[in-house]
Parts: sequence; C-alpha cells; structure tokens
Amino acid sequence: MSTPKILIIYTGGTIGMIKDQRTGELRSFNFEYIYDHVPELERFNFDLKSISISKPIDSSEITLCHWTDLVEIIETNYTNYDGFVILHGSDTMAFTASALSFMIQGLTKPIILTGSQLPIGTIRTDGKENLITAVEIAGARDENGQAVVQEVAVYFEYSLYRGNRCSKVSANQFEAFQSPNYPELAVAGVNIEFAHDRLFRTKSPELTFHKKLSNQVGLVKLFPGIPIEYYQKLFDFESVKALILETYGAGNAPSHPRMQAMLEQYIKAGGIVLNVTQCSSGSVKQGAYETSSFFERIGVISGKDITTEAAITKTQYLLGSGMNQQAIIESLHQSLVGEMS
Ligand code: ASP
Repeated sequence: MSTPKILIIYTGGTIGMIKDQRTGELRSFNFEYIYDHVPELERFNFDLKSISISKPIDSSEITLCHWTDLVEIIETNYTNYDGFVILHGSDTMAFTASALSFMIQGLTKPIILTGSQLPIGTIRTDGKENLITAVEIAGARDENGQAVVQEVAVYFEYSLYRGNRCSKVSANQFEAFQSPNYPELAVAGVNIEFAHDRLFRTKSPELTFHKKLSNQVGLVKLFPGIPIEYYQKLFDFESVKALILETYGAGNAPSHPRMQAMLEQYIKAGGIVLNVTQCSSGSVKQGAYETSSFFERIGVISGKDITTEAAITKTQYLLGSGMNQQAIIESLHQSLVGEMS
C-alpha cells in the first residue's frame, strides 16, 4: 500500500493560539509553528502537507463564506490526498462539520475536524493528542486499501463522532463534544477501535461539491413567556424562507393562539418550518401529545432526532441548492448523510 497522503487545513481556534504577553488574550499564530510544538507529526509514515486559510479565525467568526472556502480547498486537493484534517475552534465545530457533510456528498475519503480546549503550546494541552490521533484516523485504511472513515467526522478527547450528529457540550472540559443520538464511530485507547457497522458509506454515485448556501434561515427557541410578537420579522417569508423551531421535549409547544396564527400564515405563504427538540437526546414525535398535534395539521416538518446544528446547515444547504420547495420538504423528511435516525 502506498503512503497515505494527508492534508491538514488550519482555520484557527484555540489549538493554534498563543497568549499575547502584553494583554493576556489568546490570538492565532503562524501555523508553521505547529510542527515545532508537535514534532511527533513528522514521525508518522504519512505524506503530510498543511495549508492555512488566509486569515485564521476564532471559530465564533465563522461565516458561510469560510465553509465555501473549505469546500473549494478540499475540491482542489481531493484527488491528490487520501484524507483531510481540519483544525478548527471547538465553538462552532459542530456547525462546520454538519455544513461540510451536506456540501460535500459522495465522499469516499475522510474529513476529520479537530481542535482543542488548551492551546497546543501549553503544558497540559489536549491539542497534541487530538491532532496526532485525527491524523492517524485520516490515514487509516482497511485490508483492501480503502479509507476506513469515508465521511465528515469530529475527533475530540479519544472519541470520533459523526460530524452532523455531535454538539459542543462543555466550555471547559476536555471532553467537549457529545453525540447523544448516534454512538461514537471510534474510540481511541491503546488502539483506535473503529465501530465499522456505524461508519457511513455513501450511496451517491458521484462526488459533488456544493458551494451555495442560503442565509435565509431563522431559529426560534421556545421558552415559557416568549413574547412571540417580537419575532414577527422572522415569520416574514420574504426575508426568511425556513424556520427551525426548537421546541420542548418530544416536539411540544404551548397552544398560544398568536404563535399558531403566525406559524400557519408563514407556512401558507411558502415558509418551511422544521421542528427540533431542545433536549440533547431523543426525538421529536409530532402528535404524541396534544401540544404538538397542531404542528402535524399545519405541515410543520418533524426534525426527528437531528441536532440544531445539522438542522440549520441542512436547511441552508437545501435552500441554497436551488431545489424547488417540494423537493426541499422531501429532503428534510429524510436522512441525506446520516444526520437523522
Ligand atoms: N473560541 C475558540 C474557537 O472556537 C475555542 C476553541 O478553539 O476551542 O475558536
């Protein structure tokens, strides 16, 4: 078997930050220093190359344009590399991983996102292990020489998660991610144990790179006492084409007449509403309670057990794809790339 060729794409985040001696703030440093801090990378029997986006960012600054840039980088390098590792801040990593899973379909190579809670230059950093193991996973092949992982995944603190299934759950624990509705794809101990039956295999006959996303997606998170009239602008189909509604439990909402009227009018005007649960695990089941039967009657779509990150990015992708409304609705009912059970 030939030496695996891996491209490391640096976007910023804590992993590549240093402390400004004067202000004490964390800021991005020149990516070339990463090899000074992780000389172990050079000991891999891999052909490793790295590139950096032109202006590395704290991942809170991520925009839809950064996702398009990442897709372009991967498209340009796809045939020349066997796998990709994206170094990314953890704050929005689950959004980027979800977006890439929809934007690049028909994948047969791994795209592994990783980052860290402590900068790579600090003594107790989690960044070294995360980076080294992410690279090892990106280079893993089976006995036929095929990539073991053929999807977008997140590696963090000894676990590999499907990218569109995980969320950031801790601001300070090393175990910053969880994937409550889909078990780990791999766990790294003495060996990296892959759960082969959980790994995604594409049914798409061809590899496609989508670069258009829509920013006409809104999110409403319900809470007791929500002054729904303040949200009027979000229910305006001219500016917002799809709304993600974060509801309680199994997809429930108060039977608030004003909110029900706003939703019904919005859907009649052509708006798409996707119901996702605020719970970190479990699924929306519209109609299980009286408090969600209304949604079923007016055509709100059940997001089942999708994460909010995947719901938002899937909708941004579908609206940007130029599909007609019926095709978008059908796609929201289905799992496209393993994002729903
Ligand atoms: N604020 C940082 C970021 O997301 C945190 C991290 O890297 O973990 O870029």
